[in-house]
Amino acid sequence: MRALEFRSEDSRFRARLSSATVRRLLKLCQSSVKHETGGILLGHYSEALDCAWVRKVSDPPPDSERGLTWFKRGTKGLQALLDHCWDSGGNHYLGEWHFHPFVAPTPSVTDLGQLTAIAHEPGYGCPEPLLLIVGGDPSEAWSISVHVVPRGHRAIPLLRI
Ligand SMILES: [Zn+2]
Repeated sequence: MRALEFRSEDSRFRARLSSATVRRLLKLCQSSVKHETGGILLGHYSEALDCAWVRKVSDPPPDSERGLTWFKRGTKGLQALLDHCWDSGGNHYLGEWHFHPFVAPTPSVTDLGQLTAIAHEPGYGCPEPLLLIVGGDPSEAWSISVHVVPRGHRAIPLLRI
């Protein structure tokens, strides 16, 4: 497995996932079987601030709730994880990830609404959060979609390059 890179059509926004991050995501999705799961994305921006480098993905927090077609991410343990990631390498909150089991990784209206709320929520300190969705079968025929949802704008799809 290799690193994955995504960018917006106008190249203003880019995102990069290390191969270890992709492996970790697929493993978390496999262990969730038919249920949705998810968590947060951690990493940092490039020096030119045009590329979000996702270094780590969290497990689903233990207070998350999930069903076959929905996931509500909990918050338990995330602050400690954020503190640890910051102290051990300057990695910070970049956005959210979740799994659409055996269907396309197309964001729902609810998914996009949540990201818009995060972009406006000062507590997150993240005006351009990423939404990463894993879709399909995480054991073989998976795909990953990435959108950036800048504060005050519609979601912008990032295309895999
Ligand atoms: Zn979704």
